[in-house]
Order: sequence, then C-alpha cells, then structure tokens
Amino acid sequence: MKSSSETPILIIYTGGTIGMVHDLKTNSLVPIDFNHINRHVPELGKLGFNLQSVTFDPVMDSSNIDPGTWIRMAEIIEENYNDYDGFVILHGTDTMAYSASALSFMLENLAKPVIFTGSQLPIGLLRTDGRENLLTAIEIAAAKKKGAALVPEVCIYFDNELTRGNRTTKYSAEHFDAFNSPNYPPLAEVGLHLRYNSEDIHYPAGKKKLRVHKDFDTNVAILKLFPGINRNFVEAVINTTGLKGLIIETFGSGNAPTYKWFIAELKNFIRKGGIIYNVTQCHGGSVEMGLYETSRQLLAAGVVSGRDITSEASVTKLMHLLGTCRKKENVIKYLGISLAGEIS
Ligand code: ASP
Repeated sequence: MKSSSETPILIIYTGGTIGMVHDLKTNSLVPIDFNHINRHVPELGKLGFNLQSVTFDPVMDSSNIDPGTWIRMAEIIEENYNDYDGFVILHGTDTMAYSASALSFMLENLAKPVIFTGSQLPIGLLRTDGRENLLTAIEIAAAKKKGAALVPEVCIYFDNELTRGNRTTKYSAEHFDAFNSPNYPPLAEVGLHLRYNSEDIHYPAGKKKLRVHKDFDTNVAILKLFPGINRNFVEAVINTTGLKGLIIETFGSGNAPTYKWFIAELKNFIRKGGIIYNVTQCHGGSVEMGLYETSRQLLAAGVVSGRDITSEASVTKLMHLLGTCRKKENVIKYLGISLAGEIS
C-alpha cells in the first residue's frame, strides 16, 4: 500500500455531529464550518496528502438530506473526478447509510474511493470518535496498490471498520460502533494495521468512464408489518396518490399475513402497475419467498424478493430504478440484479 504527498483527496463536508459544537444560548448542538474541524485535528497536516475541501452551505443535519442532496454530492464528485484520487464525505450518521446506498447506485463505473464518515461525538470534545474516523477515512481514500485505488467503492468507515455503503445500517444511537454490515464482510478492519479484505472488494473490470445517474422517483413507501396490522392503515398506504413502489418489511425470511384482504390489496396494487418489494425486517439474513405458505402467497401475487438487501439500500435502489427505467419490467429485472454489490 502506498500513498504519496501528491495524492489529492477531496473532503466534502455536508454536516452532522462531527462538525457540531454546543451552543450555550440554545443548549443544543449547532454546526460549525470545516476550518473549525481542521483546527481540532491538527494531525490532518501530518498525513502528507494534498487535502482540499468543499463545504455545504448551510451544512446539514442528515435528517434533512434528500435525493436533491445526493445529486449535489454526486455532482461534486463528477466535477472533481479527474482531479482527485479519492473522496471523503463527512455526513451525519443518522441517514449516512441511505446516502451511501444512493451514491453507490448513482456512480456507475466508479474506480475511486468514496468514503463516508462522521462521528457520534462532536469533533471539539476530548473523547470524540470523529478524529480517528476522519483521519483513517482519508488514509483509506488515498490507499493505492500499483497505482490503482485499493477500495474503489462507496463505503462507510466508522469505528475501525470499513463496510460497503449499501450493505450498511446504523444500529446504535449510543455506541461508537454505530454501524453494522450484517450480510457482507467488512472491506477493511483497522487495528494496529489497516487490513484490506481484497477478495471482498469490488474492482471494476477495465476502464469505463464514470457515469452519474441523477434521476430519482420518490413515489415509494415502506410498510413495516406487525401483528394486528389494521386494514384501514394498509389501504391508506397502498392507495397513496401516485405510489409506484411499495416496500413491505416482512417477518423473518419474507413472511406476511395470509389474510384474504391483505393479499387482495397487494394483488390489486400490482395489477394497477405498482411494484411490491419484499424486504425482511430482520437485521441479518435473507428473504426466501416460497419457503413458508406465508411467503408463497406473496410470490404468487407477483411480489419481488429483496433477498438480503438492507432497508436503506432497498428504498434508494427503488427510487433510483423508478427514476431511471421507463418500463416496469426493467425495474423488476434490476431489483433482482446486484447493481453495486448490494445483494448476494
Ligand atoms: N443528527 C446527526 C445527523 O445525522 C447525528 C449524527 O451526525 O450522528 O446529522
């Protein structure tokens, strides 16, 4: 692994806890600019890379990030793609897995690292996790072997682990170890050494030009099932004006109630041109439609299996495909194919 002082890395600071300070007047956390972060991490200068930064104005709490913001991030990468060897995106942790998933679908033929990171504690605090997360994310974005990027993927680096962005989920609002990749191994693990798991990293075949997809259709919804789910509620969701894609978060390996009215609602939505995507509400494992009677009926109704996709990747993939493909059958086809390593 080698990186040189010439290695140019672009840091895109969107906001999040990493850049927050405590405002005594309002007694809440408010964002600061990137120069402040810089001051809190003097080690940045010792890395020896050519670090440049772009700051969102205003910086955002990640709860306010939406497809328009994903497009801004992707456009910054697109405009600077040839001038930098890697990109680090500083982002709030709350929706980081959504943004990382979305960008993985937007950046086709990506051959450079795009590493998301942030922190649980603001960078100004003594016990912050932000300093280490930022420094190591930059090292990973700059890492090369024989002149090529070691991790040419959209990833999340957090608390000593590098994971594929579209396989990652935020699972703790408390621990420094806030993210998890339940169905795919880490791409790198950090201890005394930075160990890359090359066999699990995706490397592009040949040199293809970066293609950035910027169309999203937000006419989607997620319906999380629970015992006792009310018919009025299901009907209200399914009959949402303009709804094109419905993700049902099912039990276990993709199971749902076999109530007649429930299956009839799903069938009716599909018949009218809608797409239903079955994603498990379990943290790990996969949908296997047909394994039980309670999922066989979904399969027969024309529901599409989400296999082992995360909820974050499922909703961003559906928005991306509905925005990109004109025909329903193509959306269904690509839901079943791994576009950026998001399903096994
Ligand atoms: N609310 C913050 C955000 O997601 C939380 C964080 O950064 O950890 O922007």
